[in-house]
Amino acid sequence: MSTKQNVWEMTLERLDSTMSVLDLKPGVIKYLREPRRILEVSLPVKMDSGDIDIFKGYRVQHNTNRGPAKGGIRYHQDVTLDEIKALAMLMTWKCSLVNIPFGGAKGGIIVDPLKISKRELENLTRRYTYELLPFIGPEKDIPAPDVGTNAQIMAWIMDTYSIAKGYMVPGVVTGKPITLGGSQGREEATSRGAVYTLLSALKVLEIDASNLTVTVQGFGNVGSNAAKIMYDLGFKIIALSDVSGAILNRNGIDPYKLSDYMKDSTLAEYPEAEKADPGKFFETKCDIIVPAALENQITAKNAAHIKAKIIAEGANAPTTPDADPILKDNNIFVIPDILCNSGGVTVSYFEWVQGNDAYFWSKRKVNLQLRDIMEKAFYEVYEFSNKRKLGMRSAALALAVARVAEAMKIRGIYP
Ligand code: GLU
Repeated sequence: MSTKQNVWEMTLERLDSTMSVLDLKPGVIKYLREPRRILEVSLPVKMDSGDIDIFKGYRVQHNTNRGPAKGGIRYHQDVTLDEIKALAMLMTWKCSLVNIPFGGAKGGIIVDPLKISKRELENLTRRYTYELLPFIGPEKDIPAPDVGTNAQIMAWIMDTYSIAKGYMVPGVVTGKPITLGGSQGREEATSRGAVYTLLSALKVLEIDASNLTVTVQGFGNVGSNAAKIMYDLGFKIIALSDVSGAILNRNGIDPYKLSDYMKDSTLAEYPEAEKADPGKFFETKCDIIVPAALENQITAKNAAHIKAKIIAEGANAPTTPDADPILKDNNIFVIPDILCNSGGVTVSYFEWVQGNDAYFWSKRKVNLQLRDIMEKAFYEVYEFSNKRKLGMRSAALALAVARVAEAMKIRGIYP
């Protein structure tokens, strides 16, 4: 069984264990475990060689009880349907937890976007959008960026959808370029939201925020922006990693300088830090760990070696269920993914609202509203976890699932 198949099973396992906290009927539980719709498509693309290649794509809408389906599209060579199902379900819980009026969805294409040309990437994206036409729309299902996709890809999706409709439909995707109706602050929203939850955690744990050391796994959109925002706030970024390897400098790494350096080299080659072992990345002694890469990174194998005080889950599903009790025994405070990284979809919601109103907010307004939502969600989860003697992850999941179950019950089953 591949690791990715496990992600779906692990997501269900977590859901099942949370159900015991909630007083839900077996039928409701059965209902919440199932995705509402799954679309699988084969995407022919005329490659630069002149030949045709076929790519596999998916879109899963897990739940739409609280509003249109919402969630990113992932381009990665290891995408599987099980992974997309798990991530779609996590989007349902995430939107519910921050109380924005969306359900959950996720899409993905099995492709390494760095291994095809820009023209091939555009053709692949447009063909995928064509196949999605009956399923997506501002009131139905609204895609956004995820691992391996970006604002340019959202612009192609918006353009393809709009041409098919005969008029411009900016609300069909979020994470668009600002020129096309994107929101200020969306690019770094996931990271900024994660940092807001981290600052709240430091407050409740009464940890002095000065001189704290941080390690960040992943230097894509979430990891690099989180490192920069924390660096600006005075945290010391001592270790970073990405697919090229890991680096360490106990005196601190400037993530802005590193980003500049990476324009024509790799993270692992960065001369102002020493090379580190990516396999032992989480063993680095530090105060805060931000996993901001893929799933299944903190496991029963490495969890016991973690010495941090806080793990802020910028990635989706970075921790496996068997690692949870180990982290708990070692008194490590976990800000779970559906809480920690929900800033991205929150600003996606702002983008959708701004697009619907055709009235655009300042960056200051976006960030203030984001902070309000993130802090409110954090304190709700924290208080519920204290009240019910639950870990932060179970508390977050229970609150989120309860809201979805409530919406479903009130709407009823029809026909
Ligand atoms: N892909 C992001 C996530 O996993 C954002 C989704 C969105 O904005 O719809 O939360």
